[in-house]
Amino acid sequence: MRYFSTRDENSERPATLSEAIVQGAAKDGGLYLPESIPTVAHRLFEGLSVDAIAERGLAGFFEGDALEDDLHEIAHDALSFPVPLNRLEENLHVLELFHGPTAAFKDVGARFLAACMQRIPMNGARRTILVATSGDTGGAVAAAFYKRAGFDVIILFPDGRVSPLQAQQLSCWGENVRSFAVNGNFDDCQRLVKEAFANHDLCSTLGLSSANSINIGRLLPQIVYYLHAANLLYEEEGGPPGFIVPSGNLGNATACAIAKQMGARIGPVVLACNANRTVPDYFAMQGWRPRSSVTTLASAMDVGNPSNMERLRALFSDEEALRRELKAIAVSDEQISASIGFAFNSWGKAWCPHTATALYAYADMSDEVQQERPWVVVATAHAAKFAEVVEPIVGQNVEMPESLAALMDRPAHSEALEPDISAFKRALS
Ligand SMILES: *Cc1c(COP(=O)(O)O)cnc(C)c1O
Repeated sequence: MRYFSTRDENSERPATLSEAIVQGAAKDGGLYLPESIPTVAHRLFEGLSVDAIAERGLAGFFEGDALEDDLHEIAHDALSFPVPLNRLEENLHVLELFHGPTAAFKDVGARFLAACMQRIPMNGARRTILVATSGDTGGAVAAAFYKRAGFDVIILFPDGRVSPLQAQQLSCWGENVRSFAVNGNFDDCQRLVKEAFANHDLCSTLGLSSANSINIGRLLPQIVYYLHAANLLYEEEGGPPGFIVPSGNLGNATACAIAKQMGARIGPVVLACNANRTVPDYFAMQGWRPRSSVTTLASAMDVGNPSNMERLRALFSDEEALRRELKAIAVSDEQISASIGFAFNSWGKAWCPHTATALYAYADMSDEVQQERPWVVVATAHAAKFAEVVEPIVGQNVEMPESLAALMDRPAHSEALEPDISAFKRALS
C-alpha cells in the first residue's frame, strides 16, 4: 500500500507507511492518505478481541511495508485496554474510549504510533518526540513513549492555562520525559515546536520527530474501534448504527468515515462540535471559513481550522457526497452543561463535556430519527479529567479511574521556559 499527500494531486510522490509515520505531515504540507481504502467483509470480526480486529482490519494498510510482519505485536502492544460498548437506552449506546492510561481516546493513537515508531529502524540513533499540547495530547504521548527504549519526549505546555489535573498529567513522568511550562499560550508552544523543526542544529542533534495528531500512525488505530462497535451491533434491528463523534480536529471522525468506506456496517456519521462552528457552518452550505478558535467547556475540541478536513474532502468524490454521508451540529456551552445534567439525571452517570456534546446531538434528534436505527455516542474522555466542569453540574464528586489516580500520586516536575527558541536551545544544552 502506498501513501500520498492530500496535496499531491497527480500521485507523483508515493511514501511507504513507515515513511509517512516518520514524516508526520507530508513535505508539501498535505496529509498522508492510503492510495485506496482496503475493504473488509462484514462478518470478518465475529468473536474477535479488539487487538485481533486491529490486526485483521488494518492488514491492508500495512501491506508491503517493513512494519507488515510486526502488526500483530503492534496491535497487541497498543490496544491493550478495553473499549466497552454500553447501552444507555433502547436505541442509544455509548462507546467508551477512555479506559487507557491517561483516560482519553488520544491514548489509542499515541500508543499505536509509539509502537510503530519503535519498530522503524533508526540506525541506532535516539529520537526525541517534541510535542506542544493544550491538554490531552501531551499526556497521552508522554504515557505512550515513557521508558520506551531509544526515545526521549519533550512536552511544551502553556503555564497556568491547562487544568491542574492536566498539568499534573503532563509533568509527572521523569525518566525519558521532560516537561516545560511555557510562559505563554498554546500558540506560543506550537510556534516553538515549528521553529525547532525548522532549526537544522536542533533537528539533527536531538533527532526530532513529531507525534502530531495528523500523523497517519495515530489515525489508523482509531478505525479499529469503529469496526469493533459496528461488529457488535451487527444483529441489532433498524439497520446500520449511526455514530455521533465529538469533533475538534476531525481525526476521530475521519477514522469513522474510513471504517465506513472499508465496508463496516455504519449508518449516518454525525460530527458533534462545540461553539467553534467552522465545520457545522460548512455543512450548512456557508462555505469553508476557518477562523480563530473560541474557548468552550469542551476544550479539547476548541479548533477553528480543523486540519483533518483536508483528509475528509479527499476521501469523498465531491462536496455533495461528503455532505450526504456526514452531518454536523454546533453545541453551545449552555447546551453542553444542560446535557451533562440531563444525562446524569437520566442514567446516573457523569460524562465529560466532549461526550456530553455528542449526547446533546442525540437528544436534539426527532423521536423518529432516534428510533429508526441504533445510535452510538462516542465517549472521548473520562468525566474525572474535567472535574472542574462536571462536578458543579452533577453536584457530587466524580470518582477518578485507577490509572488517573496513579498519575496524581506521582511527584511532578516541570521546567519554566520563555517562549523563544534560544531559551529552548539553552534549556536543552
Ligand atoms: C482531542 C479530543 C477530541 C477531538 O478529537 P478530534 O479527533 O481532534 O476531532 C474530543 N474529545 C476529547 C476528550 C479529546 O481529547
